[in-house]
Amino acid sequence: MAEKLKIGAYWAASCGGCDVALLDINEKILDVVDAADIVFWPIAMDVKYSDLINMHDDYIDITFFNGGIRSSENERFAKILRKKSKLLVAFGSCACNGGIIGLANLASRKELFEIIYIDNETTPNPAKVVPQTKSAFGDETLTLPEIYDRVRSLAQVVDVDYFVPGCPPSTERIEEVLNAFISGKLPSKGTVFAFEKSLCDECPREKKDKKITKIHRVHEIIDNGECFLDQGIICMGPVTRGGCGAECIKANMPCTGCYGPLSDVKDQGAAMLSAIASVISAEGERQLSEEEEKEIMEAIKDCIGIFYKYSLPSSIFGGKVKSLTEGKGGKHGEKR
Ligand code: SF4
Ligand code: SF4
Repeated sequence: MAEKLKIGAYWAASCGGCDVALLDINEKILDVVDAADIVFWPIAMDVKYSDLINMHDDYIDITFFNGGIRSSENERFAKILRKKSKLLVAFGSCACNGGIIGLANLASRKELFEIIYIDNETTPNPAKVVPQTKSAFGDETLTLPEIYDRVRSLAQVVDVDYFVPGCPPSTERIEEVLNAFISGKLPSKGTVFAFEKSLCDECPREKKDKKITKIHRVHEIIDNGECFLDQGIICMGPVTRGGCGAECIKANMPCTGCYGPLSDVKDQGAAMLSAIASVISAEGERQLSEEEEKEIMEAIKDCIGIFYKYSLPSSIFGGKVKSLTEGKGGKHGEKR
């Protein structure tokens, strides 16, 4: 009997949603179990890290890696799993582009520690203790992984074979990658398991390419069923890969961009800003006055959170530009 394939799965800095999505394939999991053994999946089975470390290189046929790289432990396991796996898949928006956790790049580690451990009213901490990589207790030294200053995507740390975007990826795309793997008919390295066309292409809403004079938030208007952008609601569909089945749109919510940028788009947020700029117009299509421009800009609440919700670490600017004094071996450690 032919030897079964071996599958691994791992979560780094993630919410766990991607692991649940792997289970959402329902009865398809039986085909997977027929064809492959799951040899490493810390969230679902009893494995020790030493089990992984003791595997020979390329022991695992394919590993689904979800979550971003936030700490030294995340980076360490990305590198170990790269060595132990013939194929490494960036699974979910966090692994593919940095994801929602990548919005932490709007603050330095020092600022984050202050917000979470010192200034947080629900965490009394008069001694102002923040996590340390080493703490001495008598003769013992306890260690913790180091939290980095920046979140990175998986491909910013190790070589990645395939990308399955989505927050989390849809069942259809997961089945697609599993079928390709089980049948041995894998596409070329670097393939993104999503569509090469934007979400607008599969969107069921009617698009009339209207000029808009005002930006609205979802709760401010009575939805008329047309394209959200035509109604003045920011929808990331034009700059986001299709392949999700337009699930958010079908639930009457605009796209927030979790399938990431199209192949020819370097920076999803910048592309969306450009798309918005091209449809904004004053009444009668005259030039916008300064006042009108200001009003439009003020209506876009949390620009980075909207335009870079899943892609800040892999965007051109990557995060907040730090002050010159930060990240140079300050209070909480060196720059990353
Ligand atoms: S991509 Fe979304 S579902 Fe997956 S780990 Fe990141 S935040 Fe969670
Ligand atoms: S902008 Fe949004 S609502 Fe409009 S067609 Fe594209 S995905 Fe659909």
